[in-house]
Amino acid sequence: MYDVNSKCADDFIDHGEILETLAYADENKENIELIDSIIEKAKKRKGLSHREASVLLACPLEEKNEEIYRLAEQIKKDFYGNRIVMFAPLYLSNYCINGCTYCPYHAKNKHIPRKQLSQEDIRREVIALQDMGHKRLALEAGEDPVRNTMEYYLKSIETIYSIKHKNGAIRRVNINIAATTVDNYRLLKEAGIGTYILFQETYHKESYLELHPTGPKHDYNYHTEAMDRAMEGGIDDVGLGVLFGLDKYRYEFAGLLMHAEHLEAAFGVGPHTISVPRLKHADDIDPGDFDNGIDDDTFAKIVACIRIAVPYTGMIISTRENQKTRERVLHLGISQISGGSRTSVGGYYEQEPEDEKSEQFDVSDNRTLDEVVRWLMEMDYIPSFCTACYREGRTGDRFMSLCKSGQIQNCCHPNALMTLKEYLMDYASPETKAIGDRLIEKETLNVPNEKARAVVLENLRLIEQDNRRDFRF
Ligand code: SAM
Repeated sequence: MYDVNSKCADDFIDHGEILETLAYADENKENIELIDSIIEKAKKRKGLSHREASVLLACPLEEKNEEIYRLAEQIKKDFYGNRIVMFAPLYLSNYCINGCTYCPYHAKNKHIPRKQLSQEDIRREVIALQDMGHKRLALEAGEDPVRNTMEYYLKSIETIYSIKHKNGAIRRVNINIAATTVDNYRLLKEAGIGTYILFQETYHKESYLELHPTGPKHDYNYHTEAMDRAMEGGIDDVGLGVLFGLDKYRYEFAGLLMHAEHLEAAFGVGPHTISVPRLKHADDIDPGDFDNGIDDDTFAKIVACIRIAVPYTGMIISTRENQKTRERVLHLGISQISGGSRTSVGGYYEQEPEDEKSEQFDVSDNRTLDEVVRWLMEMDYIPSFCTACYREGRTGDRFMSLCKSGQIQNCCHPNALMTLKEYLMDYASPETKAIGDRLIEKETLNVPNEKARAVVLENLRLIEQDNRRDFRF
């Protein structure tokens, strides 16, 4: 029985409710009157229910879809301006005892080299990441309670935050690791993580059980209720995602929004981010073996519909996608992207030899961070290395109220400019620096508050002339 407030996954992701939602969306996908009223509601920027958003996703009418894309672009601009937050994944370990059929780290894969970074390896990787210019990491690991212990994660986080190489620093560590206990989430919070990320993979319980035949991840309810435990453990920035390609995308879309609605209802704060990974080729994984792959147009429509359904939630895209796809969805709602990524365990400090490849999936965007930063700026985006909100305690509902108060332009915009300036001074190629300096000069004029603008100008001068770093609003 559907109950958005229930703590049981079977109730807040009720299968019957999703089926009814899909039937309702099918019945109404060409109901212009209803579609217009949903678009009008979305224009108020308060979001949409999973039913309403599912109607828009199902709508085949070209003219209405154009309106949906335009609105998504507008909402993106209103909430996130032209800033794009930069991050990189850091794979700590690919030891895994699960049997996920789509992931090359599954326990039955006997030929993929298994690796776990030591604290010394982590130091080297982090220095290499700092030397690229990264300030924000997403830690990734397989599930292996004996090797990848909570103690190991806590030590790794401590190591990462402690490394200060030249002007470099990792200022925000997010983590994407298997579902765990409230006590462990509390420990991660105390260790200073930013977002706890866990992809649902699929909300379709029956498929989930087949796709995860063995290992602790087989427990659908434990996995689906993980964000509730994370919130109970004090983590109020959580990141959702499904792996598109595993089950039918319209089912996943409704489930994703129902999950967001549940967190909002139960804890008063929705997800901080939503990721939209698509299944990729990997060591012993052929995406062709899975029936539910989605094309680029469908992918773009999903991004646009998520954008207007949950305007306050950041959206992340990884290097699973190529430059062209990334460019298209940046306009429609993506607010964070990775750059210069390696999906192997180790690989930033030195490339893995051909016969020792430990990658989780093939990367489709192989450009360096400098190239990605330049490409963004050439499209008039501001690559942002900002980590201020979390460090100023603006997480969960405090972050949401900043969004809702409209103060983002006086806060996030200056922070983006100042952290971009640091990047340009310390890491950029001369060509990237020249483009960036022109962009910063132009964009400083767009800080609405006069006092804030003066502070930004002074801080930019201090970054350039006095080698000062880490200013933030
Ligand atoms: N082990 C953690 C867990 O239990 O959820 C998650 C870490 S895993 C390194 C990160 C994510 O990569 C997974 O949640 C999955 O969605 C994604 N992934 C796995 N195999 C993939 C593939 N072949 N292509 C694209 N993404 C994949």
